[in-house]
Formats: sequence, C-alpha cells, structure tokens
Amino acid sequence: MKVVVLGAGVIGVTTAWWLAREGADVVVVERQRGPALETSFANGGQISVNHATPWAAPSTPWKALRWLGRVDAPLLFHPRFDPPLFAWLTRFLANCTRERVRLNTERILRVALYSRRLLGLVRAETDIAYDRLGRGILHIFRDRAEYDAALPSVELMSRLGCERRIVDAAGCVALEPALATVERDLVGGMFSPNDESGDAYAFTVGLAEKAHERGVMFLWNETISRLRASGDAIAAVETKSGEEITGDVFVVALGSYAPLMLKPLGIALPVYPAKGYSVTIPIAGHAGVPTVSLIDDAYKMVYSRLGERLRIAGTAEFTGYDATVTPRRARFLLETAMKLFPDGGDASRAEFWAGLRPSTPDGVPVIGRAPRFRNLVLNSGHGTLGWTMAAGTGRLAADLALGQPTEIPLDGLGLERFG
Ligand SMILES: Cc1cc2nc3c(=O)[nH]c(=O)nc-3n(C[C@H](O)[C@H](O)[C@H](O)COP(=O)(O)OP(=O)(O)OC[C@H]3O[C@@H](n4cnc5c(N)ncnc54)[C@H](O)[C@@H]3O)c2cc1C
Repeated sequence: MKVVVLGAGVIGVTTAWWLAREGADVVVVERQRGPALETSFANGGQISVNHATPWAAPSTPWKALRWLGRVDAPLLFHPRFDPPLFAWLTRFLANCTRERVRLNTERILRVALYSRRLLGLVRAETDIAYDRLGRGILHIFRDRAEYDAALPSVELMSRLGCERRIVDAAGCVALEPALATVERDLVGGMFSPNDESGDAYAFTVGLAEKAHERGVMFLWNETISRLRASGDAIAAVETKSGEEITGDVFVVALGSYAPLMLKPLGIALPVYPAKGYSVTIPIAGHAGVPTVSLIDDAYKMVYSRLGERLRIAGTAEFTGYDATVTPRRARFLLETAMKLFPDGGDASRAEFWAGLRPSTPDGVPVIGRAPRFRNLVLNSGHGTLGWTMAAGTGRLAADLALGQPTEIPLDGLGLERFG
C-alpha cells in the first residue's frame, strides 16, 4: 500500500516511520529543505505527560482578560477582524467548564501516556541521540492562590494514571539545586518523576534518517498546493512545482496549516495557530543550569536542558499565521529566565525563535479519518503537546491509514467531536 504523508514536522515523520515499519510504501511531501524546520524546530523540549492539561479551563478567560496588553502575558489576543479566530474562541470558551476539562484531560492523557511508552520503544529500536534527560518535570509555583487552585488536579491526574508528587519550596530546591537563589519566592511545586525532556528537532531529523533507511521517500522543497479529490477518495497531492503524487491513502500532518489544505475539500478543522517563543542559550561552563525540566507557573514558561544548551519557551499569541519574533516578548522570556537562573548560561549568545502551535479549542489533537473521503487520515492539532504526543499519534495515524486496529481507543479524538 502506498501512503502519502503531508508534512515532515515531528508528527509527519513519526507517522512515516511507523508506516514504513509496518511495511508500507511511504512518500513524505514537505515544503522545507528538511524535517522539523517549522513548529517542531525549537520547542520547549518537554515530554510532559503528567502536566498535560488543556488551556481551556474555568479560570483561563478571566486570566486572559487580566493579562490584556501586558508584555509578560502568557496568553495574548490582538483584537482584530478574524472570523476563524472568533469561531475558535467560541469553541474554546465552551470548553472552559469543569466537566469539559475532566473530559479533555482524559483524552489528552490517554494519548500522552500511550505516546510516552511508544517513544521509549522508538528510542530502543533506533538509538537516536536527542539530548534526552529522564530526570522528571518539576512544576514550580510562586503564588499561593494559584498553587492551592492547582492542587486538586493532582488527584484527577493520579486517577487517570499519572504520577505527580506535591513538594514544598525546600523540596523543589532539593530536586533542582539551581533553584536555590529563588527558594524564598517559591510556595511549592509538583514533581512528576516519569516525565522527560529532549530535543524534538534532533529526534525528528534522526528519525527521518531511520525512516529513509527503511525506504521512506522524502520530497523536500515541495509546497503542496492542493489535495485532488475524485468522488469519495483523494486521488493525489499536487504541488506548486507541478508534481502530482498519487497514493492509496493520504495522512495530513501539516500542523497549523492543515485547516487551509482541508477547507477547499469542505472539511472544517478547528485548528488555529498559537504563536509561542523560545530562547536557547549556550551553557558555556555556567554552573547554575537546571537539569530537571521545569514549568514556571507564574509565567507559564518551561525550561529544558538540551545537552550544552538551555531552552526556555513560553507564551501564546493569537495573531494568525505570523511567526515573526516580537523582540520585546522574546527578550522578556530571556530576562525572566536569567532572574530565575542568574548563572544559567551565556545570555549574550541567546537565539530567539517563534513557532505556531497548531491548537484545537479543547486541547485534544485531531486523530481519525476525515469525513467524506475514505482514504484521508488526519493527524493534526497537537497544540502545546506535539512533541509529547508524537510517537503515539504517529502510530495511531499509521494504523488508521493501514486499516489496522489501534492499540488505544480513538473515541473523542476525531473531528466528529466538533459536530
Ligand atoms: C514555543 C513552543 C513551545 C513548545 N513546547 C513544547 C513542549 O515542551 N512539549 C511538547 O510536547 N510540545 C511543545 N510544543 C508544541 C509542539 O512543538 C508542536 O505541537 C509540534 O511541533 C507540532 O508538530 P507538527 O508536525 O504538527 O507541526 P510542524 O512541525 O509545523 O510540521 C508541519 C509541517 O508541514 C509543512 N507544511 C505546511 N504546509 C505545507 C504545504 N502547503 N506543503 C508542504 N509542506 C507544508 C511545514 O513546513 C511543517 O514542516 C511547543 C510549541 C511552541 C511553539
């Protein structure tokens, strides 16, 4: 069977790898010159299963209003006429109830737990080096009210199979000594020993090489202009350079761009780009660098040590398909990081980056068959957790493409949940 995968981010490449492993004939079509050069390039690096909660929660709308216009706003909306954003926000607000949070958390966790297990399997089979650290993730809090509000989630997450330990400020420092200088500012934390971190870009490049060795053909520098339909099937991918790639099944792994490709087919995928920033600084002999991956709740920022670099990531901005780095937002990330870790690396050599998280209103990716077409599979909308969920959703999409049973149930993951 010939499967055409659209997009070579972490999601497209993991899908292609599983497909090849199952013996399929695979072609990946990508507009960049190599894998993972868009959103999968410089993310926060966290395999964050135990913190995999949706953005849409009862407190989020009020927080977003409070943050309006602030340079340090973790979530920022620019008021403008944008019907897709308006439709997305309407659905987002509908997901901000306790009941929806419980439902969406269960769905996200089902995929994330499966995915972390499969990532271990891929690692064991391929031995790809990607600056992995398996020292857990520590979520730190500086605000008592925020901390108290977050505590009930520990119980929900443990009921759903997660392991999170509540620790006080001294416990945070015992786990991560680089936090010693800010111990008096901390009120406590939540530690998940089974979570990990690693460089999604290095992993994706390594896996693309392994996939290529297994026979996957990558077509680089090919921008897909459309999916050509014929009756109830997709017949081919057409590219701007005039290529036409036919196949038996097509998997859409185009991240934030998936809705644009699907719209002409009459498929409305509620995915909207949420711009986030990262800063990467060389450690360059500095001694105060964290080795436990961290989430700083106050600014919704994450920290991951990736070999000889410290990666800092965060913020979400709803500005459409604009991936440019706004200097003052990016610098805010760096300055906040240097306050937390004054000896955390060489800030003068910081590299700034921005990427578009393909976000669904409920925080759950869209994995399933597309409506109307019998040979079209969707694997898009991974939002804040694409690296965390890549290995598992790649496998699910591969199984769907090949008509095989999936190892975990798919209910609540498909497009049909949006009605
Ligand atoms: C600041 C930031 C921090 C993050 N931190 C984390 C984290 O710590 N942990 C985590 O799990 N996740 C994190 N994420 C989320 C994660 O990076 C994304 O969910 C993931 O990278 C999405 O992967 P993707 O393959 O779907 O999209 P992409 O990586 O964007 O891949 C889509 C591919 O499709 C290609 N494409 C698009 N249109 C076309 C076309 N017309 N023709 C040909 N090719 C096309 C693009 O070039 C691209 O390569 C973070 C994201 C950001 C922005």
